[in-house]
Amino acid sequence: MKVGIPKEIKPNENRVSLVPSGVSALVAAGHSVTLQSGAGVGAGFSNEQYLAAGAGLADSAEAVWAEADMIVKVKEPIKPEWPLLRAGQTVFTYFHFAADRELTEAHLASGATCIAYETVQLANGELPLLTPMSEVAGRLAVQEGAHYLEKLYGGRGMLLGGVPGVLPAKVLVLGGGVVGTQAAKMAAGLGAQVTVMDLSLERLRHLGDILPANVQLLFSSRHAILEQLAEADLVIGGVLVTGAATPKLIRKDDLKLMQPGAVIVDVAVDQGGCVETTRPTTHADPIYLVDGVVHYAVANMPGGVPRTSTLALTNATLPYVLQLANKGWKQALRDNPALLQGLNVVDGQVAYAGIAAAFAMDH
Ligand code: NAD
Repeated sequence: MKVGIPKEIKPNENRVSLVPSGVSALVAAGHSVTLQSGAGVGAGFSNEQYLAAGAGLADSAEAVWAEADMIVKVKEPIKPEWPLLRAGQTVFTYFHFAADRELTEAHLASGATCIAYETVQLANGELPLLTPMSEVAGRLAVQEGAHYLEKLYGGRGMLLGGVPGVLPAKVLVLGGGVVGTQAAKMAAGLGAQVTVMDLSLERLRHLGDILPANVQLLFSSRHAILEQLAEADLVIGGVLVTGAATPKLIRKDDLKLMQPGAVIVDVAVDQGGCVETTRPTTHADPIYLVDGVVHYAVANMPGGVPRTSTLALTNATLPYVLQLANKGWKQALRDNPALLQGLNVVDGQVAYAGIAAAFAMDH
């Protein structure tokens, strides 16, 4: 199969969908890979590294799309890319169709087969191609939180771990899922006093087994959140209710309970956020103050660390890319129920119930 790797063109998107070792694996399996020149540079991979792994180079996106049986990307194709899609071509990437009717209609009209990273789902419910990005965001949340606790940015001027003779900062983590667990690990590792809150007792029990002693686990209730807020130096929002709007666990009035210069990193911002005063920000302008509380709400946190994010994403996607290339999409989906869940659009029809429901379309 001919596999095409275009350069991502969404603003500030520096990830790439395949690293040189992934090219080697595809070439060893008998496939050919064409990379748009420079596609890996933002993530720290040179054209030379791809050539050494056996890729061919193309000068333009048009040349990559025109040749490929399967396009592997990171972000959904955006408007300038829509005319490049072809009937019969397979496109494997993040799409997030349910949030965008125009995007969905353009892909339906193209006749391409669209398999979405975000809906590939294992039998236990895990979304294996979203998990690595939540891991990155959870870990980065602590780095960013520590940074904005510095005085210069409006923070309390505190070191997360304190020093001998000075108590460490208190970190409150809302939601003990993937983001929350990774955040708790990082904050605990820096010596902070961490509290993780979740509604799932099963989850809290599991976290009790795996997290260190400077992490306390607390059942999530309005009362308990307000008590914790008053003491928290850094709050990390990692709450998700699958298929529903994120609950606003911190309301505007609650900010008055918080200490001036406390920091909120609302990782859940991409689903609306778990703090009422959250509004999406960007890496270029990541923070704002409300009632003296620093808010960080970057909607694409993994984009800030494209090298780590690319490696984490491609570790997870490559096995599926190989299955699609080796077997063709039809057989690969027949053989792998997790991958079958990824099928969103085929033959001009919506193939995923959540998207059809969002736009009242047939599927
Ligand atoms: P997850 O499903 O693994 O974890 C969510 C957790 O929230 C679950 O354990 C759930 O029990 C808990 N929860 C639900 N209601 C709660 C409540 N009322 N109180 C406390 N806990 C509650 O999800 P995840 O992968 O950790 O993702 C968390 C959020 O981070 C999602 O909204 C996701 O989209 C977002 N995210 C954002 C970025 C970014 O760049 N900003 C990157 C990755 C993920």
